Amino acid sequence: CDHAPAALAGKVPVRGADAAKVAAALGPAGAPAMPAEYSYPVLARCLSGELPRDAVLAELDKAGLRGMGGAGFPTARKWRSVAAQDGPRLVVVNADEGEPGTFKDRWFLETAAARVLEGALIAAWAVEADEVYLYLRDEYADLHRILRGMVAQLPGAVPVHLRRGAGAYVCGEESALIESLEGKRGYPRQRPPYVAEVGLFGRPTLVNNVETLYWVGRILAEGAELFTNEGRNGHKGLRTYSVSGRVKEPGVKIAPNGITITELIEEFCGGMEDGHVLAAYLPGGASGGFLPARLTPPLAFGAIEEHGGFIGSAAVVVFSQADDLRAAALGLARFFAHESCGQCTPCRVGTAKSVDLLARPAWDRDLLSDLADVMRDASICGLGQAAPNVWQSLLRHFPEVVK
Ligand code: SF4
Repeated sequence: CDHAPAALAGKVPVRGADAAKVAAALGPAGAPAMPAEYSYPVLARCLSGELPRDAVLAELDKAGLRGMGGAGFPTARKWRSVAAQDGPRLVVVNADEGEPGTFKDRWFLETAAARVLEGALIAAWAVEADEVYLYLRDEYADLHRILRGMVAQLPGAVPVHLRRGAGAYVCGEESALIESLEGKRGYPRQRPPYVAEVGLFGRPTLVNNVETLYWVGRILAEGAELFTNEGRNGHKGLRTYSVSGRVKEPGVKIAPNGITITELIEEFCGGMEDGHVLAAYLPGGASGGFLPARLTPPLAFGAIEEHGGFIGSAAVVVFSQADDLRAAALGLARFFAHESCGQCTPCRVGTAKSVDLLARPAWDRDLLSDLADVMRDASICGLGQAAPNVWQSLLRHFPEVVK
């Protein structure tokens, strides 16, 4: 993808009709995203009392910041719920970005790791946590080396521990991540209790995604208007879309939250590749299901569900008339079968069964729908619950493909 060179040059990849507006909100296009020496000024204002906790939480509320890992839970509300638990408390930074098609967290860590770390330290201060654990996807080996150096030089009294994942997709799920941090096999936990109550090492734990923590610092530094002045099609804020597939300029795109697929492709991605016409897209990576070109809902939390999918971490994968959607679905089903942790039967057996059924020349609509119902109702975690979106979305929206 094209985001790494731009990231290393510190450039903000925004283009198109609204690109100038978004770039103005983010800072001058082409300017370094972060100064070489970063002094953690927002954290200093928090620690000095210039920015009281209530004011910080109120600003995040005003901005409407939600968890960008995929769940979209309001950030300030999450912080309050952890802070309300008896201490000691912990903060975990989820940098185990593994959703197929998602690469924005890598980009944020490449361009603005100090801003992310500052957000984590502000979160620790806000919930009065004793320690911070950063769980990094092991495939991001270069980032591990960079972060190790930065963590060693961090200001403040809260220790930050850098930990490596071991390649399991399911460990991006917060309770599996916590199990992994504890040195155990990454099995998602049954809830309740929620990790805000009983999390890492049995302590109340705040788990935030990399991108969420990045925006915390930006919003506190520049005001909630950074988000409230942006947005489109009835949605507020900015959103980071990881765009891949049949577009001229794939990569990480910071765009108005709620932008549609056609607007995103035309204004931020240089249009479709020559000779290719939009046929389908994944709005939220492997988990969010396929949508046909004729459906263009806002790419925002809560706007995709009526079509049977979801936006998740906003991994937008673009397909054209040249792509075989059945083959793509089979590939995604194989991914879920491979990554199922095997703890619960509906997912362990169901994902394997789906690979068998999707590989057949004719799809058995009734059997696939029954399998989807069982997996959605009875799987422990989001992997088993979301995997059926792969075939259910094709059955629902692409009858011509899955006759
Ligand atoms: Fe593991 Fe799948 Fe069950 Fe989640 S749904 S706990 S990944 S077997």
